[in-house]
Amino acid sequence: MDTLLRVQDLKISYFTYAGEVQAVRGVSFTVEKNQTTAIVGESGCGKTVTAKSIMGLIKKPGKIKEGSQIFFQGENVVEYTKKQWNTFCGKECGMIFQDALVSLNPTMKVGRQIIENLDNHETMLSKQEKRTRAQEMLQLVGIPDTKNCLEKYPHELSGGMRQRVMIAMALVTRPKLLIADEPTTALDVTIQAQIMELLKNLQKKLHMSVVLITHDLGVVADVADCIVVMYAGKIVERGRCRDIFYHASHPYTWALLKSVPRIDYHGQTLMTIEGSIPDMTNPPKGCAFCQRCPYGMRICKEHEPPTWDLKDGHEVSCWLLDRRANREGVPFGIDRRTEDE
Ligand code: SF4
Repeated sequence: MDTLLRVQDLKISYFTYAGEVQAVRGVSFTVEKNQTTAIVGESGCGKTVTAKSIMGLIKKPGKIKEGSQIFFQGENVVEYTKKQWNTFCGKECGMIFQDALVSLNPTMKVGRQIIENLDNHETMLSKQEKRTRAQEMLQLVGIPDTKNCLEKYPHELSGGMRQRVMIAMALVTRPKLLIADEPTTALDVTIQAQIMELLKNLQKKLHMSVVLITHDLGVVADVADCIVVMYAGKIVERGRCRDIFYHASHPYTWALLKSVPRIDYHGQTLMTIEGSIPDMTNPPKGCAFCQRCPYGMRICKEHEPPTWDLKDGHEVSCWLLDRRANREGVPFGIDRRTEDE
């Protein structure tokens, strides 16, 4: 497979009055060409901060720490100058955000906002060509009356339409990478499904890679090729979609899977994960999930779990995978592939 993006030992901290908040603590993963990689985890796990760092959007008091590397097509973007960032963002990499109403400029017509992106990155195009390109993009994202839509203000459109406009804005320059940060959170369920279907189709049609940020594992099942599960600024499990859904091996991933509503579970109460993420100004010495993990052992409190490579890049950081661990009462069964090898 061809790698488009490689994040290597990414560390990001926010320097606040309360102390150094270690939002991302040594995250490494790759995004392959023409594939969708989902980053999953609850609020505060560091997924959005990770995505923002790829777009150069970490501002003071935040800081990407020394030694962190983000390679896009072989170039370390962390070392980019301001000019290089301006070319990279919008042209090579587009981003869509949670709430389109907040992200779009309310005082500017939709057409102007889409064309503005072309003004910055496609300077050779004539005014008419830019307008035509904007209309083509709106058509591609499923807006029927494109001419009329160009003349509207964001508040004149429905939530689903606004999100489509945001996608059109991000993709009008045909970037190789799209970062979608919780693109369906502010939408109702039926529109959520339409937007996810749209993203899936666009990824194939435009041959781009997508990094999808979400707290909902249910959203990614049909869309993602690879899944990265984050907790307290670290990756706890990553692998292909089927590894995560059929061979999940980390208690946090099990809990996320159990909290996804299923149509075949009539009358059952959804599982919740008791407690909250640890104080990131003073992260725990051992496993960060220890306080909430029903299978925690003494070693979990004292030592960080190593990362085990189970098979074909399916990686898990948990002491339960140590052969010596007491696995009594573990419900899902640890992936036996490690034991056979
Ligand atoms: Fe639970 Fe220990 Fe695994 Fe952490 S390392 S997830 S506390 S079993």
